[in-house]
Amino acid sequence: MMNYDYAIVGAGITGLTLARRLKSQHQTVLVLEKSRGAGGRLATRRWSDDGIFFDHGCEGLDTKSSEVEAWVKEMNLESLLKHEGDDFKILDHSSNSFCSGGISQIGRRLSEGLELQKQVKVHSIQRIDSMFRLQSDEGDVHLAQKVVFTCPLPQIKQIILNEDSDNIMSKLWDPVWDQVTYEPSHSVMSRVSSLEAFSGNLTKKLGEGFVAVNVSQKFRLKQPCVIVHSPTSWSSENLEEDPEQVYIRVKTLLIQHGLSPVGSYQVHRWRYALAGKVVRGGRGFAELCSGDLFFAGEAFAGTGVSAALRSANKLSDHLLFDTNGYGES
Ligand SMILES: Cc1cc2nc3c(=O)[nH]c(=O)nc-3n(C[C@H](O)[C@H](O)[C@H](O)COP(=O)(O)OP(=O)(O)OC[C@H]3O[C@@H](n4cnc5c(N)ncnc54)[C@H](O)[C@@H]3O)c2cc1C
Repeated sequence: MMNYDYAIVGAGITGLTLARRLKSQHQTVLVLEKSRGAGGRLATRRWSDDGIFFDHGCEGLDTKSSEVEAWVKEMNLESLLKHEGDDFKILDHSSNSFCSGGISQIGRRLSEGLELQKQVKVHSIQRIDSMFRLQSDEGDVHLAQKVVFTCPLPQIKQIILNEDSDNIMSKLWDPVWDQVTYEPSHSVMSRVSSLEAFSGNLTKKLGEGFVAVNVSQKFRLKQPCVIVHSPTSWSSENLEEDPEQVYIRVKTLLIQHGLSPVGSYQVHRWRYALAGKVVRGGRGFAELCSGDLFFAGEAFAGTGVSAALRSANKLSDHLLFDTNGYGES
């Protein structure tokens, strides 16, 4: 069985960026991802019957942020991104760019040439001599010298504290990480009878913090369809709600605003959409097991895509160049 230099858990932008940088410096890297696709919260859902697609997670990238701009150039992503400036604004931000083929293209592009195993949900971790043994829900085993977890902290905790994990692991959990919070969100995708209510705008506020995005205009689709994002407060209160009830709430708002849903719909719940309370004053990542085990991702460096990239930047600099320039964690 192959013993990799690195196993990276999670193929979001943190994990994929790190993997590309490590691979470019001749490290052997295995990326393990529980979903069917790469990109994590940069996610696109397709309705295969008629070519409709929705970005049901993050809708666009703030390409005016220095981290994002530099990363887009480094990873050669310019050709995928369409700047809103000439056309319209995404979610009323002033500097966002989106992918005209769906934001999941970023994950697909970043994973090119990487050793990525999808639909592998890491279940437990054990330390054996100087190696780590990762076991998936399906029972397959992967070995690596170093491991980087890039999933949201509650998901990392589940793996670290799993009863099948090494006892040593549970002692590594710092209670500070229990204070990190993530804001939930629901995304409701639906066809509608007409898009006139948008009056040419890309977004429409539906009240109570719900926002509809004109997906047809964003992607130049023939069929009228929208995606509605819920506010954090509502999703926190309705986190365990039946998807049908979530749809009924959104449907009422859509009808009130002249956007009558027709036909099928889909509901996606994000339990961990965006970091809320984050790890303050750290190095952008956590280092454990004498520098063999790492936790990284947005919550170690702020919130959102820029923070995820900041975390990936700091950890890759540390691993590859050992800059030691970020102070103590
Ligand atoms: C609805 C929504 C709207 C957003 N809007 C914005 C915005 O406007 N601006 C902004 O900057 N950011 C926004 N974000 C947040 C942004 O998408 C994230 O901050 C960023 O994508 C985080 O990247 P990441 O790689 O750190 O984590 P993730 O993308 O979460 O990647 C972690 C990966 O780990 C995988 N994983 C989890 N557990 C396991 C396991 N046990 N085994 C294997 N794999 C596992 C997950 O499937 C996932 O692919 C939004 C997010 C959502 C959901």
